[in-house]
Amino acid sequence: MRWQGKRKSTNIEDRRGRARPRNGARKAGGLGGIGLIAVLLIGYFMGIDVTPLLQEQGQGGYQENPTQSVEITDADRKAGDFVAANLALTEDIWADIFRKQIGMTYKPVTLVLFKGTTSSRCGGASGATGPFYCPGDKKAYLDTSFFTTLEKRLGAGGDFAAAYVIAHEVSHYVQDELGILGKANEIRARSNKAASNAISVRIELQADCYSGIWAREADKKFNILERGDLAEAINAAKQIGDDTLQRNAGRTPLPHTFTHGTSKQRVAWFKRGLGSGDIRDCDTFGAKQL
Ligand SMILES: [Zn+2]
Repeated sequence: MRWQGKRKSTNIEDRRGRARPRNGARKAGGLGGIGLIAVLLIGYFMGIDVTPLLQEQGQGGYQENPTQSVEITDADRKAGDFVAANLALTEDIWADIFRKQIGMTYKPVTLVLFKGTTSSRCGGASGATGPFYCPGDKKAYLDTSFFTTLEKRLGAGGDFAAAYVIAHEVSHYVQDELGILGKANEIRARSNKAASNAISVRIELQADCYSGIWAREADKKFNILERGDLAEAINAAKQIGDDTLQRNAGRTPLPHTFTHGTSKQRVAWFKRGLGSGDIRDCDTFGAKQL
């Protein structure tokens, strides 16, 4: 991916390298009172459902180490630049799409970079839970060490795999701005678990489709794609399908527990957005078949 030298977004809230709290004296962006526990979040939207990974390691067995000091390395700085460049690309592209396709003004999302743990209005977060979007504070959260997890544990290496994950989280914000997330969550709240999961799948596949639109338009406008980039994103979509994640965790895939869609579906919807560029073609809620 050709991202170096491109504009970097300033809509990043960099919480990395902040002194860690002692004895509950935490002040995290005015969200006091939220316990800093590495819990799975409520009301969030992720690019990747890492639950199978966590279960594979045993509950609480993930790398949560509150006493570890936070040091910003060169790799962190480079990852931060990469995220800022990608975020800028989402800003330019979604501003265009909002104006041209829906006659709305796109207001950029804030992306929180953290290292280790942080808090959000959706609950406490740790890098191990993966990147997510929190509708409660309208921010996307990302621990860039997740890119290593993506490559080493999920088999989804390459810079464009990481770009796809960023685009996916921003897509949840886009859904929020369009009123889709709020409506979907309302219905989920009064549905049983299986029905709620099925709605979640439609939300996630739509975010994948939007990510495809973003990749297409960003390349058209900024010529970002290098040979192999699309294959990296498509491979990532495949590796983080619910069936593949559960199978790789040594379990038999259970469709009623799926929250993000199968590998096949994730790839298909990403490709649909990529091929179309039109958000109307990403109507996973109206689709008879996913
Ligand atoms: Zn998601």
